[in-house]
Amino acid sequence: MSRLVVVANRVPDPREGGATAGGLAVAMKDALAKRDSLWFGWSGKTAEETGTEAAQVRHGSTTYATIDLGHDDYRHYYQGFSNAALWPVLHYRLGIARFDRRDYGGYTRTNAAFAAALAPLLRPDDTIWIHDFHLFLMAAELRRLGCRQRIGFFLHVPFPPRSVFNGLPHAAQLLEGLASMDAIGVQTEDDAENLRGALIAGGMGEAAMRVGAFAIGIDAAGFASLAARRVGSKDVVRLRDSLAGRSLAIGVDRLDYTKGLPQRIAGFGAMLERFPRHRGKITFLQVAPVSRGDVAQYRTLRRELDEGVGRINGQMAEPDWAPIRYITRAVARPTIAGFMRVARIGLVTPLRDGMNLVAKEFVAAQDPVDPGVLVLSRFAGAAVELDGALVVNPLDPDDIAEALDVAMDMPADERLDRWSRMWATVRANTAAAWCRRFLSALEGHEAVAEAGSSL
Ligand code: ADP
Repeated sequence: MSRLVVVANRVPDPREGGATAGGLAVAMKDALAKRDSLWFGWSGKTAEETGTEAAQVRHGSTTYATIDLGHDDYRHYYQGFSNAALWPVLHYRLGIARFDRRDYGGYTRTNAAFAAALAPLLRPDDTIWIHDFHLFLMAAELRRLGCRQRIGFFLHVPFPPRSVFNGLPHAAQLLEGLASMDAIGVQTEDDAENLRGALIAGGMGEAAMRVGAFAIGIDAAGFASLAARRVGSKDVVRLRDSLAGRSLAIGVDRLDYTKGLPQRIAGFGAMLERFPRHRGKITFLQVAPVSRGDVAQYRTLRRELDEGVGRINGQMAEPDWAPIRYITRAVARPTIAGFMRVARIGLVTPLRDGMNLVAKEFVAAQDPVDPGVLVLSRFAGAAVELDGALVVNPLDPDDIAEALDVAMDMPADERLDRWSRMWATVRANTAAAWCRRFLSALEGHEAVAEAGSSL
């Protein structure tokens, strides 16, 4: 079997495994362990200049190769074009995107630097798999350097309709970059349609045929057993005791404007207003660690949430009950898994999300004898698969309020029926299965468009 080369903006720490690893590392674990492999990307550190020679560490069958980012590239490639331009536009938010020629310059420069540092490490029969929106231009740069290996690409975030995407300066160059890939995976059939439309309109109809939908999954059994084990842990017992018999609703997100947090908080407040019999019967715990705190829009969001939570608690709280508990510090993943298991309701209401792994984790974490209810945004990729959820419009607080009311009263047999359907899907479409499906398409065993969306 040829060597697998994974390229992503971030490279996992080889010493971290299991519970502490990020979503992509979990998804790639089996594929990396089974064959000789190389994972290439940014070290997470900054330096005077972007590195030209990768530092390499071998761990098991995988070599981890990283370069540092120069201060300028960190600012323009990472904070600028990736986080302040591409991230909002790909999540349909043209209006809050910030464009700057220097940011795009940093983006092209860094994609070229990644390619130049990777090229000398490549072998002729490597299979290369590039991940996500930070690296749209990397395959084109590798081709310019003479690389002839098979190159696949997976976009973890949504791809918007082309009328939105084309609002991005340099949209055409980004699409041309994608067209250098041999297989292009996205999360849902809607994303695939949007990307195909953009490629065809840009005169790249042939590349459109290499686009397929491959919904990513989680390590379902692993997360389920983590949650079951953690239920008896000190933190989870403390949480449960503190609820004093009230139901728990839980939200777990990075503090990001795509996650619909202000609307979710407003929805919870509207539920208490409109259905007062639930007052004092439910506590909503939102865990939302600060992320990208150095980007302006994220600071604004944080202020908005501080105020929204404060207002609802101020209006509704009783001396012995506050409706919302809000934590902006990081909480360890195993503890989160345990919290999810004791929750009666999971609130996952992003305004737009490629997949949303939290939705699948909430399903996996439930007690099969007495499962909770998932309230899920119709604009999360996960809504395509999780048909047992109460699906809501995340922009509409009243819709969220009504779903919460239904969830609070849902009888045990209906909860079980809805959850069983979702668990069957989550358990079948694991991270490892996703990885196998994409690699099988990339390595030419099936046409991409057919290999994808085979759910
Ligand atoms: P995104 O990639 O946009 O952050 P996802 O829901 O797809 O959204 O993936 C987020 C991952 O990070 C999940 O595995 C989730 O468990 C983890 N995560 C998100 N928020 C938290 C949090 N507050 N504490 C611990 N882990 C979190």
